[in-house]
Amino acid sequence: MDFNLTQEHSMIRDMVYAFTRREVMPIIRDYDRSHTFPKHLLPKMAEQGFLGVCLPVRYDGAGMDFISLGLVAEGLEYGDSSVRETVAVHLGLHALPIFQWGTDEQKREFLPPLARGENIGCFGLTEPGAGSDVAAMASRARKDGGDYLLSGEKMWITLSDVANRFLVFAKTSPDAGTNGITAFILERGWKGLTTGAIEGKMGVHASNTGWINMEDVRVPASHRLGEEGEGFKIAMSALDNARYTVAAGAIGIIRACIDESLAYARVRKTFGKPIIEYQLIQQMIANMGQSLAAGELLVWKAGWLKNQGVRNTRETSMAKWFCTDAARRAADDAVQIHGAYGYSDEYRVERHLRNTKSAVIYEGTSQIHTLMQAAYISGERKDKPMRCEMPAYDPSAWQSEA
Ligand SMILES: Cc1cc2nc3c(=O)[nH]c(=O)nc-3n(C[C@H](O)[C@H](O)[C@H](O)COP(=O)(O)OP(=O)(O)OC[C@H]3O[C@@H](n4cnc5c(N)ncnc54)[C@H](O)[C@@H]3O)c2cc1C
Repeated sequence: MDFNLTQEHSMIRDMVYAFTRREVMPIIRDYDRSHTFPKHLLPKMAEQGFLGVCLPVRYDGAGMDFISLGLVAEGLEYGDSSVRETVAVHLGLHALPIFQWGTDEQKREFLPPLARGENIGCFGLTEPGAGSDVAAMASRARKDGGDYLLSGEKMWITLSDVANRFLVFAKTSPDAGTNGITAFILERGWKGLTTGAIEGKMGVHASNTGWINMEDVRVPASHRLGEEGEGFKIAMSALDNARYTVAAGAIGIIRACIDESLAYARVRKTFGKPIIEYQLIQQMIANMGQSLAAGELLVWKAGWLKNQGVRNTRETSMAKWFCTDAARRAADDAVQIHGAYGYSDEYRVERHLRNTKSAVIYEGTSQIHTLMQAAYISGERKDKPMRCEMPAYDPSAWQSEA
């Protein structure tokens, strides 16, 4: 057992944090205030390899492992959740499912432009009437010759207005429950496909969140991902990747809350002394430290299992549940430590508090993860092998050009 980051992982972490301090932190408050997606960061993130960090080099990825993916998420979310969301969705929910479930032809066609950031991908599962209960989805895909015609509405979709590739889910067999769902890759510009933004969010203002509308969108069979009826499994395996980035990102938030709280508490004085000297303040910071230490172990274990190619739905769910709840508490305490100043966006902790609420809702609410963990503990839930499992990380295969 080795709890140290390798030299390579330490370098990646330093590089991502440096990127966040240089490119994200100086500008993000203005983007958050104006509810604008910082589009100019996409080519910069692509240049650093973040948009394809754990994709093999032969698909123009950076050829790194899943721990590296977690470190990218952590470092980006140290600056802002919205920026980490881009990687979680584009890579975790769009590109990695193609890597796991796509045919060789689909991988060769779809992955390189995604890894290079020339195409941006999103993930459309949630609908106005179906969130946690995926099987309640109303979107339909019916066969028409060799094609499919897709109709339906997707809601709360991150990057819906930014993306030009859409991994969406629709029922091909409406009476078959989760076994009747199929996954499709759609392209912007196809007739019948429209998107729009959702206004009035509580947080992640610098993230683009919106809807996708599909009216008889003609999708060639070559754009079906996996077999008919495999959509639910594809969606759940995609969530295994993205939940991991959400958990790792929450570590970045906790770290930010500790740093901001320490800096403020050392200079803010009440009753003649810095507030850091009060044990009630120290307790809040110690609680953040406890969450950080425990959360990191959960994230790294999930990342390590991913590198081994071992199914990690249980561990990833635990990491996501624990870390996002802990980040929300840390941000709440960080605002408390900042007093009235924490209630304004003059300090970053106010943004972190609004942002952390989204992460306990998406990628499985905390209630859904509680139910999952209860079912694992009681033995009621056991994960069965899938037709396509994510392969174990093999550095020579991932870094080879061929
Ligand atoms: C900022 C943001 C970005 C998002 N991005 C995406 C995206 O890119 N793609 C995408 O597909 N979706 C996205 N979502 C949607 C997100 O995944 C859903 O909001 C989430 O799955 C919950 O679904 P819901 O909102 O419909 O809540 P519901 O499922 O309606 O749940 C409502 C409440 O009931 C609780 N609940 C539900 N079932 C149970 C149960 N069995 N037992 C106990 N409690 C229960 C829930 O925990 C919640 O508290 C995003 C959401 C947000 C806020």
